Amino acid sequence: MNTYDYTRIIFGFSALMICLTCLLFTVIQQRTDKKNNQIYIALIYIVFFNALSEIGAGYMEALLFESNTYFLVYQTMVYTYFAVHTMLSPVFFAYVTTVCGVAFSKKSKMKIVYVAVFAVTELLALTNPLTSWLYTFDENRLFKRGWAEYIIYAAAAFYLVLAFLRLMSTWKALTEKRRSALFYFFFVVAAGILVQLVFNNIKVELFAEALGLMGIMLSVESEDERIDSDTGFYNRRALKLDLDGYILNKRPVQLIVLRITNADIILRTTGLENTDVLSGLVADYLRSAVPRAAVYNASTGTFVIAMTDKSEKEARDKAEELSRRFDSTWRLNDMDIMLKAVVLAAGLPSKQIAGARHAFYMIDAPLPKGNDKKVLTGDDLNYLIRHNAVEAAVSRGLEEKSFSVYYQPTYSMKDRKLHGAEALVRMHDRELGDIPPDEFIPVAEQMGIIDRIDDFVLEQVCAFIKSGIPAVHGMGSINVNLSVIECMRPGFAEHINMIVERSGIDKHFLNFEITESVAADDYELLSHVINTLKSSGFLFSMDDYGTGYSNMNALLSLNFDIIKIDKSLLRGAEQTELGRIMLENTVKMFKQMKRDVLVEGVETAEQAAILANLDVDYLQGYYFSRALCERDFVEFINK
Ligand code: C2E
Ligand code: CA
Ligand code: CA
Repeated sequence: MNTYDYTRIIFGFSALMICLTCLLFTVIQQRTDKKNNQIYIALIYIVFFNALSEIGAGYMEALLFESNTYFLVYQTMVYTYFAVHTMLSPVFFAYVTTVCGVAFSKKSKMKIVYVAVFAVTELLALTNPLTSWLYTFDENRLFKRGWAEYIIYAAAAFYLVLAFLRLMSTWKALTEKRRSALFYFFFVVAAGILVQLVFNNIKVELFAEALGLMGIMLSVESEDERIDSDTGFYNRRALKLDLDGYILNKRPVQLIVLRITNADIILRTTGLENTDVLSGLVADYLRSAVPRAAVYNASTGTFVIAMTDKSEKEARDKAEELSRRFDSTWRLNDMDIMLKAVVLAAGLPSKQIAGARHAFYMIDAPLPKGNDKKVLTGDDLNYLIRHNAVEAAVSRGLEEKSFSVYYQPTYSMKDRKLHGAEALVRMHDRELGDIPPDEFIPVAEQMGIIDRIDDFVLEQVCAFIKSGIPAVHGMGSINVNLSVIECMRPGFAEHINMIVERSGIDKHFLNFEITESVAADDYELLSHVINTLKSSGFLFSMDDYGTGYSNMNALLSLNFDIIKIDKSLLRGAEQTELGRIMLENTVKMFKQMKRDVLVEGVETAEQAAILANLDVDYLQGYYFSRALCERDFVEFINK
């Protein structure tokens, strides 16, 4: 009497348990909606049924000789094993292909080969009872390999090599975690096959496959690192990787970017704590409007929808549809709020969006000035081409000495004498020519190199002060603009002190201007930085008072020496009585707060006359002079 084949049963049972575990976690965590999820589940089922037939075959082996029925059952088990197992490597190849983001284009000739090889092997397995090419049973009812089994092995190797090549060619588009899980699968399966080949009676291959699949579940299927925990959508990092993948695989994709544009106003008017709640509202809507698997939360209030296999027209229609939702109100804690959004749609690649980097411009770059469209497509997005060019210009700017410092004089109201100057940066690029600061400074801020430009300006100004010319002309101080985001960076005050001390000038010759903006969200920190620098001798001005959301909070908590009133208030005072009252009282308020007041943008004698009746300390504007290069400025003040 024969005995059970224990290794077959034990390894089969272990593989079965692993498959069940994988299946359970996949379903519990609802990873069933994407193509790779579905193929993964198919892989699990394949190994699962193989494991069942292995257990069955191992059990029946002992009973083979008892009766013909048992023998028939045994044969069926072996038959099932081959019929199902043949599918494993082609399906694994399809899985790797999907994970790598490579689509089988409908025309691809290779696709026919992939399918044909699979069809032949499957046919061999299915027709074996008639042909006995794959295997047969001898007169002792013992299993005998046939020549066709080598074809099956060769085909499996074919698919595994293809999958391996896929993996290598899309290296960049996968996270290390995903890559290692897929490599682990190759490794563990190869080890299993090898052991089984060498020790014919250790049937470990299936067990190895199940283990490999478990590794894939933990690292590829589980997308924790790709998911934004607040919204449940994919995060920015996932977007970057996926876009790289699409480009690498030359797979066109339609991108829709939805940007909430009035989040900060809503926060200020409703007293809500953060933008997350607003993002949450829109996220809920998006979940119902588009498949979850296509949505990324690129930053707070900005969502990206990536649609493959869709036409430009379909993307536009979707963009219009999403935009229409913002025509009606949103319900938030018993409040009805009106959210504003701009929806941008473009193909990747297209004229405007050539690569992943450009896609991120579409996501992050400021919208064109004066834009009033709610949906931007096609040529509406040409500003991104310019943005791209400006970014290239900025990144080569420091080396190529594209930047220079101009000075615009400021005057004392009392005696109309020169008081000082504001240093204003200018840029001249070899390709784009002059680029206005309003255009390149936001780009430099976004690129994170505004600090280097500000340092350059500060160094130039220090050198100018060091030359002694400003002091000779009785200039009190020179104003230097600082980017408020930079001010809040750790070590900022030390950094400024270092530059100025190196130049050897007196610190009270420098007056730093900062503009209160939404970016300045931590007044405590900002106030600390300003006080530190003030205590070492510098002066501070608040720039552009009267624009944006000049926040009373900033005035109260930040210790400015001078308030610079924006030209818009002056224009207003010129035009209407109300505007005049506003300017007059603004000046009065600051004087009572013991601040000096400077009015910017004085262009005409009439404007200067209006200001003469107010308690303004300093004036600045084209009426006196535009910003001039250092040489012209020196010539100007010499006169
Ligand atoms: P800002 O600090 O408010 O600078 C004043 C702007 O108003 C300058 O524009 C100046 O040329 C312009 N201006 C001066 N007088 C008049 C006038 O009478 N009428 C009109 N219509 N405009 C006048 P500019 O040089 O184009 O600078 C724009 C902005 O770029 C600046 O606004 C400032 O926010 C930023 N900026 C300039 N230089 C620097 C810098 O070195 N670092 C940083 N971080 N920002 C800078
Ligand atoms: Ca300024
Ligand atoms: Ca200003």
